[in-house]
Amino acid sequence: MAKAVFAILLVASVAVYAQQPQPAPSLSIRNVTVIDGNGGPPQSAFNVLLKDGRVASVGRDAVDADVTIDGRGLFVMPGLTDAHVHLSGMPWAERAEQLKRVLRGGVTMVYDVASDLRNTSDLSRAALTGEIESPAIYYAALFAGPAFFTDPRVVSTSRGYRPGDAPWNREIAPDTDLVRAVAEARGAGATSIKLYAALDAATVRRIGDEAKRQNVRLIAHATVFPARPSDLVAAGVKMLAHTAYLVWEGTPPSPDFPKRARGDFAGVPADSAVITRLLQSMKDNDVTLNPTLWIFSEGTPKDDMSPARIAWMNAVTKRAQDMGVVIAAGVDSLMTPGDPLPMIHKELEVMVTGAGLTPLQAITAGTRGAAHAIGVDADRGTLAPGKVADLLIVDADPSADIRNTRRIRYVIKDGRIVSTRAAGAR
Ligand SMILES: [Zn+2]
Repeated sequence: MAKAVFAILLVASVAVYAQQPQPAPSLSIRNVTVIDGNGGPPQSAFNVLLKDGRVASVGRDAVDADVTIDGRGLFVMPGLTDAHVHLSGMPWAERAEQLKRVLRGGVTMVYDVASDLRNTSDLSRAALTGEIESPAIYYAALFAGPAFFTDPRVVSTSRGYRPGDAPWNREIAPDTDLVRAVAEARGAGATSIKLYAALDAATVRRIGDEAKRQNVRLIAHATVFPARPSDLVAAGVKMLAHTAYLVWEGTPPSPDFPKRARGDFAGVPADSAVITRLLQSMKDNDVTLNPTLWIFSEGTPKDDMSPARIAWMNAVTKRAQDMGVVIAAGVDSLMTPGDPLPMIHKELEVMVTGAGLTPLQAITAGTRGAAHAIGVDADRGTLAPGKVADLLIVDADPSADIRNTRRIRYVIKDGRIVSTRAAGAR
């Protein structure tokens, strides 16, 4: 009897297994120029072999596979990562459709740094199962002080909970049970926690200690008011978002959170000792900088401080790069009306034309650097044997002109070709 039951279970499980998607055929890209995401010069006439969703080999040895792409005249690089997105604020189906366009536009991974995580985790699940065509999705829960929880964005992404009680949008007060708050953020599927606003240095430190204990990555706005950038570095944060907010290292942070973009850019010069010390401590503690240059220079309406702010954030981003701080590309605006391609291409362009990074440095920020910020660079973000086979193939050299990241010929996700030419590619 037991044997019969076992046999039935076995048949049932084989039937379920048979419904799983077929493994990707092996794929070779021959005679292609490789930009591997580590920052080195392009290597021409390479052969790349992809198997079982991973990169099997990269080199000059001959390769044979089920499917072959003739790579002559083409450039292959890791798929782009946008390390600063928000996936709330749009109906699920519309967002899924947008993610498809984002993937076809060359982005193979995104990092949602605060949203309604019920929505984000379901999009992430659908991406993993193949229900939707999407970049890989990683995400962070948000922690902030009580003063932040009247913000309409946090209210709308916490529906069903009193604002501050949702496990992914958590109010941290002096009496908050941090062990539970961090555990519940993990329970919401977050691999990281983002410190957002209205937290002091002592609270930031307590959160940092508990996040470390529970092995959750901590990231933050570059200032969370009143905690300063250096308080965040000391608490163990691994990514600081928005270069412009680093200015608050040099002045008492504004108690008025909405004024966060109005720092004293003239009084705390980009090359001041206080900023140099901060950037050095970021490098020493492996804190990645997510500059969000485009949204501060072109993505928002101009105000009276724009010229000073833009010049300052460009200069500090360049200094960070030169001092060895890891830069992670992330836009804070996945797509913008009127542009068929994801905004990451604009961000990489502004890194070059605004901040003065080289195209290769910008490419590294959009690949390895962004994967490093998310904490997944052991697996993703570079083109090397063993890494996930998420690739972008373009038909002109992006290390010569960064705008060539838009000249998309193929996007490869988990070793499969997902698109032969994005609708908006040019
Ligand atoms: Zn953001």
